[in-house]
Amino acid sequence: MLLDRTGLGGQAAKSARIENYLGFPHGVSGEHLTRLAMVQALKFGVRIYSPCAVAGLDLSDDRRPAVLLEDGARIESRAVIAATGAHYRRPDIPQWSTFEKSGCIRYAATDLDVRGYEDQPVTVIGGANSAGQAALSLAARGATVDLIIRGADLGARMSSYLTDRIRAHSRIQVHTGTALRELAGADTLTSIVVEKSGERHDRLDCRALFCFIGADPVSSWLAGVAKDSDGFVLTDSRLPAGTHGTPLPFQTSAPRLFAVGDLRSGSTKRVATAVGEGGSAVSSVHATLAAD
Ligand SMILES: Cc1cc2nc3c(=O)[nH]c(=O)nc-3n(C[C@H](O)[C@H](O)[C@H](O)COP(=O)(O)OP(=O)(O)OC[C@H]3O[C@@H](n4cnc5c(N)ncnc54)[C@H](O)[C@@H]3O)c2cc1C
Repeated sequence: MLLDRTGLGGQAAKSARIENYLGFPHGVSGEHLTRLAMVQALKFGVRIYSPCAVAGLDLSDDRRPAVLLEDGARIESRAVIAATGAHYRRPDIPQWSTFEKSGCIRYAATDLDVRGYEDQPVTVIGGANSAGQAALSLAARGATVDLIIRGADLGARMSSYLTDRIRAHSRIQVHTGTALRELAGADTLTSIVVEKSGERHDRLDCRALFCFIGADPVSSWLAGVAKDSDGFVLTDSRLPAGTHGTPLPFQTSAPRLFAVGDLRSGSTKRVATAVGEGGSAVSSVHATLAAD
């Protein structure tokens, strides 16, 4: 039984073109991939309930975790796989979702994310190491990078090995004490407006915006389950010593509860890895049920 709060596909459904998913050398839209996955799941007998919001779990019976729905219903089960993902933090800016849909806003700077922006003006937002690494990697490919940081000091949350290289790089301009205010362009992004120290507004050329201001796990419904300091769910080798004898892959601190994808502490935050983890967790479920 598959339960989803809003509709299938999660974050992937919002991606205009997923280029790194196996079997789609020319890329595939998130919407199309979601449709194909749904048909495949139905073919294998999955019962899909959506919209269907889960409010929590009743873990009082070690052998029967119960799923509690927001409408008050209770579903008894023998095992649960949690895959409620994460939300990338987004600045509250008009047209953000429009440019996100067109692929001009990215939350990673892998080879594929960066492709097409070599020699282009781009913007990176964020003050931690992930933003610094993205800025350097984009500049190394020939992009001209504006690095936008809300705080006053580049080194406040970024390692010095990155800040030294960023300060020395001729194609990276650092804007501290700066906030993004506006996105502009017709179908694709062409420029942004930033506000410096609460006063001056500058317009910067920008063909793509790489956003690294963090992600929040959707894990509040998993009360009593072990999580890391950011709220991502701990599984198998990340569990505190002594939680289980030898935990199965993707086992959480709760019996018969597994966690996969972006929700999991230490996950890669990619479609292929989320799908692969889901498949592996099913093996753990079979191993658990076989021991009944
Ligand atoms: C704009 C964008 C573009 C991306 N592009 C790429 C790309 O090109 N390539 C790539 O590999 N990755 C990409 N990613 C990342 C990728 O989409 C995620 O890593 C992947 O979707 C994670 O899958 P998941 O199942 O763990 O979580 P999610 O995709 O976050 O799905 C979680 C699901 O859980 C449901 N849910 C949440 N709470 C509840 C609840 N209480 N009850 C019931 N259901 C609930 C949600 O409705 C959602 O459908 C992109 C992400 C974004 C935002």
